[in-house]
This record gives sequence, C-alpha cells and structure tokens, in this order.
Amino acid sequence: MTNLPYPIRVESGSFAGLGGLVREVAPAHRYAIITDANVAHLYGKAAASSLGIDQADVLVIPAGESSKTRATWGWLTDGLITRGFGRDSAVISLGGGVVLDLAGFVAATYMRGIPIVHVPTTLLAMIDASIGGKSGVDTVFGKNLVGAFYRPNGVLVDPLFLETLPRNELRTGFAEALKHGVIADRHYFDSVVSAMTGVLNGAAAGESLTRLIEGSVAVKAGIVGRDEREDGLRKILNFGHTVGHAVEMLSGYTLAHGEAVAIGMTVESRVAERAGVAISGTAAEIRNAVVAAGLPGSVPRGMSADRILEVMRSDKKTRGGFVHYSLPRSIGDMAGSESGWTVAVKDTIVREVLL
Ligand code: ADP
Ligand code: ZN
Repeated sequence: MTNLPYPIRVESGSFAGLGGLVREVAPAHRYAIITDANVAHLYGKAAASSLGIDQADVLVIPAGESSKTRATWGWLTDGLITRGFGRDSAVISLGGGVVLDLAGFVAATYMRGIPIVHVPTTLLAMIDASIGGKSGVDTVFGKNLVGAFYRPNGVLVDPLFLETLPRNELRTGFAEALKHGVIADRHYFDSVVSAMTGVLNGAAAGESLTRLIEGSVAVKAGIVGRDEREDGLRKILNFGHTVGHAVEMLSGYTLAHGEAVAIGMTVESRVAERAGVAISGTAAEIRNAVVAAGLPGSVPRGMSADRILEVMRSDKKTRGGFVHYSLPRSIGDMAGSESGWTVAVKDTIVREVLL
C-alpha cells in the first residue's frame, strides 16, 4: 500500500487475477486491452479471457518507441469509436512504458476520460511508467511533449512477466532502480546493486526482483504522493535525465532510455562533485553500479559536449540562462531542498566533465 489514491498491487502470479482486480477498481461494460505485438503474442489471449472474451477487445500496436505518436493515438481512438466503445468502457494497458504512456493518453482523452488499469510487463514500466500518472506521446521535437497527468484506477504488477523479458530490457530497468536508491535511500541503493548483480549472474531472480520492485514502487509512490504535479520534490526523479534525454535524442534513439539515464547519472554525479554539491566518491560509486549492471558509464564516442549542452539548453529545464539539474549531495540525499529541488550549474563546469 502506498500514499497514492489508487491501489498498486505487486504480487507474483497476480496476472491470473486480472479480471477480478479490474472489475473491482474499474467496473465497466467493455474493456479495451491496449498492447504491443510482442506482448500480445505472449499475454494477449490470457488477458482477454481473464476479462471475459465477449467483453474485451485487444488493440495491438507495433512494438517500440516509434509507436508513441499522435498518429498511433489517432488510430487507437478511431478504433474505439468504430468498435462502439462508450463512456461506460475502460482501458487496460498491457506492456512496457511505450504502451502505458500511450494507452494512458488514450484513456485521458477518449470521451474526455475513461478509467484505466495499468499492467506493466517490463521492469522499467513496473517501477516507473505505471506510477505517477504521466501519460503522453512523443513529437519530432522531443519526447513526451504532448500529454496529460491522468491517474489510473489501479496498477497490477506481476513480476512473473519478467521471465520472458529480454535481458537487455531488464538492464534498462535497473538504471531507474539505481536512480531510486540515489535519490531516496542509501540502503535501498546497496540492495539494488546486490540484487542486480545476482540476477545478471543467473541467480534465481523471482524473490529478489519482487523485493526490488516493491522498494522502487515505495520510493516513487512516496515522492509522487507528495508532489503529483511536479511543482517541486518530484523533480528529484529527474536525476540523470537532463543529460540522459540529451544523449538519448542525440543518439537518434539508438540508446535505450535506461542506457541514456545510466550515462546521465554518471555525468551528472560528476557535475555534482565538481560543482561542490556532492561529497567526493559519490560519482565513482554510481559509475561502478552502472557498469556492474552492464550499462554504459560514459558518453558515446563522437558525441560532442557542445551538442549535448545545446540540447540541454533548449530543454524545459533551462531558466535564466542556466541549465538546472537534480543533483545528489550523496547517495540517498538530494540537493536543492531550498531551491525547488534543482541546482543551477554553469555550462563551463558541465563542459569540463563532458570533455
Ligand atoms: P520500456 O518499458 O523499456 O519503455 P517498451 O515498452 O519499449 O519498453 O518495451 C520494450 C520491449 O520489450 C518491447 O519490444 C516490448 O514488446 C517487449 N516486452 C515488453 N514486456 C515484455 C515481456 N514481459 N516479455 C517479453 N517482451 C516484452
Ligand atoms: Zn526515466
């Protein structure tokens, strides 16, 4: 249980009880299960039969970030209209972050808003996209530029989905789990490092992944529950994301989000040390953890410091000519409580770290 006004159920095997949970938190006459092609193939039928085949339609989009567009949103909402979905219907999002963000935006806007239950199937979506009610789509100008805050009626997290998730996708989820440790809890950071090392070395994953998901859900829900609209505190969740979004975009999205965040956390923690914000040793420890997860710990060769700075300056985090960063003081303790949870840093310092 969290301090958010909707239930987040984390339980191994809970997918089998999807129909029951959905009927409890989002009773509706018809359900639209929105999912991508890979997830549909693995879990689409089971989801539909749990809800009752004659009450549930499965709408399948192509897998991948390139589906997170207004065009796909249009195709989905048209699909709901032509199938006769009314205000008495609800959406189930079944998939990774792409599906959850997009289906959330469909639910937020269809007939001015119909209920949604999130069923995340990637580690990243379980600990990030499913909590906090951000929905939206990408545009050619950048990620998530069109969207809405929209609370789900409930979230069902079944760690068993991770048994079919490719290893690389698991790694990208670890990046956000490490972030949760850095921003909130030193002890949790240590336990993510050890769980992650165990899982990647082939230790039995079930129990330790469930605990990791519970830990991250508690951190994220705790923050979002205190600042749902990102007026202040919620900004600490952007640690690693200012540099991260820039390198993700400059890679032409060949870097996965979690990989970009890993690079972002490494760079930003060095910036924090150089700016005199973080205690010495913080950056080295974060970099070691990132590398232990098999994630990249430095900016890709050939990506110029000037381009990265340019992208960051055009981002929404710039105010008064300075780029504002969410920076750690140490692991488990974020700086900026007196300045809206971000710190303005001169480009010269950032350039020194990037070069
Ligand atoms: P993220 O949650 O990282 O934003 P995506 O929504 O892009 O990720 O999903 C990552 C990829 O993993 C997609 O190709 C998706 O179809 C696939 N996928 C999602 N969940 C599972 C799963 N449980 N098993 C296998 N593949 C999955
Ligand atoms: Zn992220």
